[in-house]
Amino acid sequence: MANATNVRVRFCPSPTGNPHVGLVRTALFNWAFARHNEGTLVFRIEDTDAARDSEESYEQLLDSMRWLGFDWDEGPEVGGPHAPYRQSQRMDIYKDVAQKLLDGGYAYPCYCTTEELDTRRDAARAAGKPSGYDGHCRDLTAEQKQAYEAEGRSHIVRFRMPDEATTFTDLVRGEITVQAENVTDYGIIRANGAPLYTLVNPVDDALMEITHVLRGEDLLSSTPRQIALYKALIELGVAKGIPDFGHLPYVMGEGNKKLSKRDPQASLNLYRERGFLPEGLLNYLSLLGWSFSADQDVFSISDMVAKFDLADVNANPARFDLKKAESINGDHIRMLDVKAFAEACEPWLKAPHANWAPEDFDQAAWEAIAPHAQTRVTVLSDITANVDFLFLKEPVEDEASWTKAMGKGDPAALLTTARAKLEAADWTSPESLKEAVLAAGEEHGLKLGKAQAPVRVAVTGRTVGLPLFESLEILGKEKSLSRIDAALAKLAA
Ligand code: GLU
Ligand code: ZN
Repeated sequence: MANATNVRVRFCPSPTGNPHVGLVRTALFNWAFARHNEGTLVFRIEDTDAARDSEESYEQLLDSMRWLGFDWDEGPEVGGPHAPYRQSQRMDIYKDVAQKLLDGGYAYPCYCTTEELDTRRDAARAAGKPSGYDGHCRDLTAEQKQAYEAEGRSHIVRFRMPDEATTFTDLVRGEITVQAENVTDYGIIRANGAPLYTLVNPVDDALMEITHVLRGEDLLSSTPRQIALYKALIELGVAKGIPDFGHLPYVMGEGNKKLSKRDPQASLNLYRERGFLPEGLLNYLSLLGWSFSADQDVFSISDMVAKFDLADVNANPARFDLKKAESINGDHIRMLDVKAFAEACEPWLKAPHANWAPEDFDQAAWEAIAPHAQTRVTVLSDITANVDFLFLKEPVEDEASWTKAMGKGDPAALLTTARAKLEAADWTSPESLKEAVLAAGEEHGLKLGKAQAPVRVAVTGRTVGLPLFESLEILGKEKSLSRIDAALAKLAA
């Protein structure tokens, strides 16, 4: 059914909880595949599980998709020929299809209770037999059904799996064959009448004419069931064909365990809050199972789209590597023009902080220091510690930094000399400030590195930070010298 000029893919999350990186990777691959092929991306909300779905998660999903920079051709807010795109609004469609399946004998009511199913499953296991549904209600007569109804039993609806192996060609994994005994008849409608994922997902894929189903490996086991259901839907005139399936590899987290939705490291919000750029995060996530080229792993999202090919998706589990994600994000921060970088950081700088208020933020100082900061940070939230000395009334008190810079030699003598030379220096030139500290160091037998450490801690509170002499210039003569005075007073106390 795949036709490169008419690609229709879907991203169809359930609005349960915060979006996680696995979900984002799936969205990304579908979006990139659609855009690369000039196809259509359908965004569908699988919210048929009233107990788990929430409106808040739905809003969050949309907000996340927008933040990531994805667009979709059909779905919430944009509409489309197959609307509505929220499954909770499509219940009549599923009831209708379920009835057709029942009428055509493709599905049947199953009256087994959970206890009965458990007992028989345990017995089958003990006997070393397959433990899926045993087909008990497959061919009940009208009388048997009536008898169960008379007992007051409720029933679910089960889909009748054909008694033959299923073979399909996975776009990522190649040919896959699953034996019939491993895929038994499965529920499509709950006893309370609510349709299940097993029904609504392939029914919508059929009605929305999806050509390629790209999703996580955890859903591989549902594919033989869905293919059988598709065949029934084709016979019933509901589906036109069977889509191609491609299952994206697992993402492994700490300790080589599958990264779970509940893993804090998996939460998209964490990356937003830490100040990942959407393009940095997407660049990294694209490498979970795909590669751009053998020697390049930093690229723009438009270059990724231009190169994206399912043939390059790897079936092996991918490892989530936070350090690499951060490093790639840092490279994307470097790729911004400085104005965009400055603007991207401002929410962090203008937010209320423990020790400075939004009104302490100084736009001119920030714009002056931004180019120096841009080369340093890997996530935007790092910016605060790098430039807080500009906005605080007094530099942060960092005990470890103080001890490190002031705990040996004679920092008071050095600072006194440095202060005098800085006083006489040209404060419009970082070079002149550097010469002042260099000369002070020479008088005390210290190289520049050793001589500037007490100055840096006096002025910024920290031993590491942005280039010192540019920092001094931007902070200004008056504030810088008064901070050196304060440090001298503290040393004398
Ligand atoms: N709503 C399903 C999920 O979030 C979609 C699975 C699929 O892509 O078929 O897991
Ligand atoms: Zn049954």
